[in-house]
Amino acid sequence: MSTEPTSDTELTPEAAEAEPETVNEPQDTTDPPADNPPPPEEPEPEEDTTPPPPPETPTGTITFEPATWYSVDTVCLTQDKGNGDPCPNLNVTATDPMVYSNAGKPIIVCGMCNRSRTILAATKLDPQPVMD
Ligand SMILES: [Zn+2]
Repeated sequence: MSTEPTSDTELTPEAAEAEPETVNEPQDTTDPPADNPPPPEEPEPEEDTTPPPPPETPTGTITFEPATWYSVDTVCLTQDKGNGDPCPNLNVTATDPMVYSNAGKPIIVCGMCNRSRTILAATKLDPQPVMD
């Protein structure tokens, strides 16, 4: 007796183990629109040369008593120092705590542009300082 082994040809088809690649990665769809390019950036100056807004200037004329000491608020309004550039102190207010009115018209000169500053307010010192 010969029991020939029947060729056991069981096909074990490997069921499609290869899973279909249904990887739906989020696509990067942040492409810039071709017909709407961003505006070119303007080169910014390194120095911030934007002057502050000008202060409110007094409506009336500030009168000084002659030969009197005042605390004076002033501002430089020099838009053009002569070379087209504004004064670095443009629109910058400052207080001079002791200003002598001389004949009643004190002149306060801007140290940056050597031009007279606009007087915004003046307060008579009380008591007046005594100068020897
Ligand atoms: Zn100035």
